[in-house]
Order: sequence, then C-alpha cells, then structure tokens
Amino acid sequence: MPTPLELRGRNVLVVGLARSGVAAARLAASRGARVRATDRRVATELGPLAGLEEAGVELALGGHDAADFTRADLVVVSPGVPLALPEIGEARRQGVPVVAEVELAWRLLPELPLVGITGTNGKSTTTALAGSLLRRHRRTFVGGNLGTPLSELLLSGRAAEAVVLELSSFQLEGIEDLHATVAACLNVTPDHLDRYRDLEAYAAAKARLFANQRPGDLAVANARDPRTVAMAASSPGEAWSFGFGPPAPRAARDVSGGDGPCEIVVTSSSGAAERYRVSARSLRGRHNRENAMAAVLCARRLGVPAAEIQAGLDTFPGLPHRLELVREHGGVEWVNDSKATNVDSTQVGLAAFPAGRPHVLLIMGGRGKGAPYTPLRPLFAGRVKALFTVGEDAPAVERDLADLVPTERAGTLAAAVVQAAAAAAPGDVVLLSPACASYDQFRSYEERGDAFRRLAVELR
Ligand code: ADP
Repeated sequence: MPTPLELRGRNVLVVGLARSGVAAARLAASRGARVRATDRRVATELGPLAGLEEAGVELALGGHDAADFTRADLVVVSPGVPLALPEIGEARRQGVPVVAEVELAWRLLPELPLVGITGTNGKSTTTALAGSLLRRHRRTFVGGNLGTPLSELLLSGRAAEAVVLELSSFQLEGIEDLHATVAACLNVTPDHLDRYRDLEAYAAAKARLFANQRPGDLAVANARDPRTVAMAASSPGEAWSFGFGPPAPRAARDVSGGDGPCEIVVTSSSGAAERYRVSARSLRGRHNRENAMAAVLCARRLGVPAAEIQAGLDTFPGLPHRLELVREHGGVEWVNDSKATNVDSTQVGLAAFPAGRPHVLLIMGGRGKGAPYTPLRPLFAGRVKALFTVGEDAPAVERDLADLVPTERAGTLAAAVVQAAAAAAPGDVVLLSPACASYDQFRSYEERGDAFRRLAVELR
C-alpha cells in the first residue's frame, strides 16, 4: 500500500508552474496543506494559473527563494524541473522529502491498477493506444507526462477503475511508492543527455518504474533493446517482451514481416497463442507495430478480452502530428508528421512507407539542429519522388539530399503544399516530416502541423 500522505497543515512547496505544477498546487491546497508555488518565470511568461490564488496558494514567481525549499515539509516537482536544481539538492540534504507531481497524486489516490509507459520514443502513442484499449473494458484515466496530469483526476472527483500513465525519465526520478501493475519501457536511446551524466544514468531513472513492481505484476520490454530487457528482468514481476528481437517464451511478435498489414502473435510460456491484426492507417510503420504490441500486452494483462483489443486496434484514430492522415484528395494521401523535429524521427516516418516505387513527396526543413541529413539518403531510394524544402535550414537539407531527387526550394509551408499538390499523382503521398524544429516560422510543431492540415484540407 502507498504510505498515506497527510497534508493538513503541512508546508508544501510546488516547483514549476506549468499544467502539472498548477494541478499539484491545487490538489495539495484542497487537502489542507499550506502551499507555496514557485517558478523561475514571471506570471506573464506562464500559462493560466487558474484558481491558484483563490485556493489560497501563495505564489513566488520570477525566481526561487532557497529558504522556501528548506522550510517546506514536502517539495513537489513538476516534470519540467530538473531535480539537479541546487535548491532541491539543499532541501534533500536537510532531509526534506522531494517528490514528483505524479507521486503526490498517486499517494492520495486509492490504489488502482496502473499501466506505466516509459521509453525515449513512442510513449504518447502507446499510452493513447493502451488507454483506448482499456477504456473498452473499464473506466480508465489516461494521462501523465503529456496530456492530463494525474493530479487532475483527483481534482475532478471522477472515479476511475484503472490508470494509464505516460512517464518520462524526469518524472520517474521523483517517484517513491508509485506502483505499476504493468510497466513497459519501449526503448532507450540517447536523448536528454543534457540532463543526465550518460545513457546509464538516463536508463537508471526509467528503471525505477520496474524496481517498484511486485510479484505477479507484468514487466514489458522491447526484445531488440537490451537495456529495456535488463530493466524488465530486474522487476519482481513477470517479464515479457515485444517486437523484432530474439523470440522469448512470453512475447508479442510480428509474424508478417513485410510492409503489409501486420499480424501480432502473443505467446505465453504455456505455448498458448493469440493473434491480432494491425491494419489501421493510424498505426503504419514498424515503430507503430512495436507500440501496438506493447499496448496489446498491457491491455490483455488487465483483462481486456481479445475481441475488444482487436476492435480497439481497428478503430484507433492515432495522435495528431505523428503520421496523421489529414486528407485523401484525388487519390493522394496528405500525411502530417510535424512531430518529426529531428532526423531520427523523419527516418522512422519515411520508413513507414513502402519502398519499391517512388511515391512520397516529402516536405522538409525548418530550424535545424546542426545534425546532418545524410542518414536519410538510404530511405530515399525507391520511395521519395520529390523534395520540397522550407525554412531556415533549406540550404543544408538540399546540400545533403537534393542530388537524389527533383528538389524545389518552396520557402514556406504554404508554397510547399501548392507545389506538392501540382506534382502529386494518384497513389502518391505528400508527407510533411520536417526533421527540423518549427520555431523559425511557427510557435510549435503543433502549430506547424495544424497549418499543414488546414492547407491540405483547403486544396481544391
Ligand atoms: P513520445 O511521447 O515518446 O515522444 P510519440 O508517440 O509522441 O512518442 O512519438 C514521437 C515520435 O517518435 C514519432 O513521431 C516517431 O518518429 C517516433 N517513434 C514513435 N514510436 C517509436 C518507436 N516505438 N520506436 C522508435 N521511434 C518511435
């Protein structure tokens, strides 16, 4: 059982006032704590601080006061705030407990079956899919790192019978009791190494999810990623794997092999096998097959009947900006992959389309991250028909790729859409997968993807 958390009359400091911090502050105040909330930014730089002052929360904005940290009985940290902050270090040295927002919420909830999903890539998709499969069976809260913070479940007063959470390594650094009945780590690749000493330290943060499991729980790993396999093996629960690595006795595997619809087989150690088809266009690409396999294992473990899982796989709408089909027009598919803000993501996105016939009209560019675009070259062969470049890094994209296919400097997304529409033939795909950040021309990748969707929909 989680250690009961009594907040009445306690001094709670909430650090970081994005959505999770705001929810944590309101939650702690609603349980009778005296709450201060601090952020380095000033009020005009923050989002809405809805209801905080009305709830009696004191605000300390525009910087941190070290005394607030050491005076507190409990420090609650939002996912965006590094635990390496000197004030947090000092509070810990003085014995003040420091927890993540998700841990605070967990300790105030009655214990529920929890599916915790972590990994470098694919967390949001897998969380959304596992959530939509579980919702077919029981009342399920879906949220975490992106989307709705767990604190908001408590604030809403809604009942839930299960919880599916996307958990970043930052959040997992701040858990103590949070207990995942089902824990999945999708992959561990170099990312956020600005915040961690090395890949091992980053993986260690994710491994905390498995360390808190109990016998009888399920630990899910990616069979081709030894770090995740080691994490699952360290869990007191039962380790299963998914994906394209060496077959294991308890596993979900893709037995189709090709680019067509995928067939997943789930095998248990008794030899019993269940089969699922993944054919929805919202789940194209090998990476999404992996995400689907992980989600199926999670949902099955929490008792969703196989037929319901199949129906959920068939109807999953996908997430916006991740290979999102925004329109079909004159036999041409328009696909928004604006979330691909680096070369790795565009590699994954392009690989989701079959090779053999050049049919992808690719829109790339934006604010580059200084990495070469040359790793995309092998994926162009037999796949990309034309390239349209936009934004600041258009010259660098062209330098690395323009010798492979006809290339036009479009400059803006609006021009790229017009030019791609003129060049597309029935059976082609116009793919926005920029391999760049959006900040030179948009506020965010979401705004860029929304603009692409609108431009595609308005085409006559
Ligand atoms: P996250 O929440 O971890 O960022 P998303 O589901 O939002 O993950 O996917 C973000 C991007 O990561 C996708 O656009 C795709 O390029 C890539 N991706 C998704 N799933 C996987 C996977 N299983 N393996 C590798 N890359 C993936």
